[in-house]
Amino acid sequence: MYKRVLIATRTFGKYSDDPIEFLKKEGFEIVRIDRFNLSDLEGVDALIVGTHHVTAEMIERSKLKIIAKHGVGVDNIDLEAATRKGIPVTITAGANSLSVAELTIAFVFALSRGLIWSHNRLFHEKRWEGTVGQEVTGKTFGVIGFGAIGREVVRRSICLGMNVLVYDPYVSKDTIRVFGATPVDELDDLLKESDFVSLHVPLNESTRNIIGEREISLMKKTAFLINTSRGGLIDEEALIKALREGMIAGAALDVFSEEPPSPDSPLFECPNLITTAHIGAHTKEAIYRMNMMAAQAVVDFFNGKIPKYVVNEEVVNLLKHKGYQETS
Ligand code: NAD
Repeated sequence: MYKRVLIATRTFGKYSDDPIEFLKKEGFEIVRIDRFNLSDLEGVDALIVGTHHVTAEMIERSKLKIIAKHGVGVDNIDLEAATRKGIPVTITAGANSLSVAELTIAFVFALSRGLIWSHNRLFHEKRWEGTVGQEVTGKTFGVIGFGAIGREVVRRSICLGMNVLVYDPYVSKDTIRVFGATPVDELDDLLKESDFVSLHVPLNESTRNIIGEREISLMKKTAFLINTSRGGLIDEEALIKALREGMIAGAALDVFSEEPPSPDSPLFECPNLITTAHIGAHTKEAIYRMNMMAAQAVVDFFNGKIPKYVVNEEVVNLLKHKGYQETS
């Protein structure tokens, strides 16, 4: 008997047929709708979803048995309703860590060599003006947050010959040292000593504005600030002031407190600010990994296995109770 999976994310199968073929081979009938409502879920057993809202009503009144988020943030899915109904909600954890880490390193080079500035002068203004940058080798890189992405950033910066400081009070110092980095007890110390500072922490009430006016004032005037995590981590007004007044040498932002930022945001008038449009996870490889992980979660579930990265723990216990096997 065919199981039906509704795929509601445009990038599923966009760069490779593998995920679609995989689902078909495992006996799934595929339905594709980017925007769906309750009636579209009729007869659907599994949902692979990007950012579309999955409401309590959809969960309660449909026959969905698993929801696989194509990504990591589950704020678009009514988790409580899914948990009440015993439906596992999975995420594609770690699928984009390398991509975000690589963008971070790209920012390090772009800032240190004035790449964007130089490109704009020559390409758009036809001005042949030299810039004097600096090498990154031997410089100090302060990494805030030592999770999946922070670790990949650290690995790469160590290879570049940088001296890496890490601030993450939730990770043991030994774990940080194994990577060749130096753990610091106080964020302030990292800010004072680093030539580059990069944020890799989640946004929550304890990390909101973790970099504000006071923190920026501790940084070297020659230092650069990078944010590829979440907009609310940096107080943007404080950053704008710091860039205008030359309190730091420059910054790179992939994420903003409001996305997209208003076209007349003062950010766009800041000297030495590089911006990208939340592209950290946008690589073909990361998308492929997300496709395959979401498909695998659905396949595992219907093969009687507990899928990896179920976010509603209570449902994991329920599945164990029902005899579902752990995945290796
Ligand atoms: P993760 O959960 O693996 O790691 C986060 C780390 O932050 C953990 O080690 C945790 O201990 C640490 N941390 C938490 N609070 C802290 C604090 N107050 N001070 C210092 N460390 C603290 O997360 P991840 O996968 O590494 O992702 C990090 C961030 O990157 C997330 O906010 C995520 O949303 C963001 N992200 C951005 C993009 C993008 O497109 N730009 C893509 C993916 C993820």
